[in-house]
Amino acid sequence: MDKHRSQARWAASLVFCTALFNSAFANAEPCITVTLTGTQGGPPVFQGQAGAGTLVQYGDSDNGCSDLALQFDAGRGTTQSLSKLNVPVGKLSALFVTHMHSDHTEGVTDLMQLRWHFNSQGPKLDFVVSEDKKSPAGHTLSGSLFARHIGDTLIKSGEMAQRLVENPKRLADGPSALMNVITFGSVIEPTVVWSSGDVTVLAINSKHIPGHASYRVNTPAGSVVIGGDAGNDKSAPPRDASTSAQVEALAEDADVIVHSTIHPVMGPDKDSGFPPPVYFRQSTASDLGAMAARTGASHLMLTHLIPPLGASKQGPYPIPGGALSETDYEDAVKQGGYEGTTIVGTDLISLTLPAN
Ligand SMILES: [Zn+2]
Repeated sequence: MDKHRSQARWAASLVFCTALFNSAFANAEPCITVTLTGTQGGPPVFQGQAGAGTLVQYGDSDNGCSDLALQFDAGRGTTQSLSKLNVPVGKLSALFVTHMHSDHTEGVTDLMQLRWHFNSQGPKLDFVVSEDKKSPAGHTLSGSLFARHIGDTLIKSGEMAQRLVENPKRLADGPSALMNVITFGSVIEPTVVWSSGDVTVLAINSKHIPGHASYRVNTPAGSVVIGGDAGNDKSAPPRDASTSAQVEALAEDADVIVHSTIHPVMGPDKDSGFPPPVYFRQSTASDLGAMAARTGASHLMLTHLIPPLGASKQGPYPIPGGALSETDYEDAVKQGGYEGTTIVGTDLISLTLPAN
């Protein structure tokens, strides 16, 4: 081929590639995706639903919002949910826990064991949780002890020693050595507990059990609040609402609120037999609607549904009037006066901001 013609073609293709790169770069916009990795409410099991958890991913439109992957709570089945989303556990940047209840934490062991198998070279996973809190009953709720002992059953059974013989590059102290535990003290105002680049995560304590915390992720693409199982400081009526004033302060002007939800049909006045103290320490769908209306959220994502959609029972307790539908939850939210978009949670449902 003619040498000059070849050079001209090469130069033309370089210009073309540069133009493509520039246009892609110019169109890349920051984005945030919120995915419910599990929507089961409380310890019961129902049709394979995964335990409570929310994945918040942040990045730009060129990489599918995938620069950062932040997991909030990890109930049973979280690892499977992440695999369905093509998010390897080694890709998680941080794991935040709202409180030390098994329906929010029992997936952590599985997740960390898998990370230890294949990502022992690091990096460590930031594990963000309240400092130890003593209950009025005398016992202590401890996220740091939970993390330290995360691999104990497998160490005691001899499995860890066996696997270390097979691959000595794995961390000798087991999966807890891969956790970078970050604890925070009492937070009565929204307080930054974690950050990376232009993403910050704030926390605030609220009632449910000692040490319970709700989180807010602020990014250039939007903000999302993960309420967890937060409830009102007053543990029973009379009170203004079942929702938490602290979560409401945290959620002011946030785009998205993700919150555990109980349907008013489980209330003591409806004779389900559901224990009133357990009912009263959750936020009702109607009160969450009212709160989301006050804070101005564009989206309310209901998760940790009590009872689950389509279930005739919550654990041993029958649902008065029969199984609930998505519409039953939406109607309850509307009764609270919310006119934004309500998403009744199912496993892996997701929302991306800004919407394309
Ligand atoms: Zn729960």
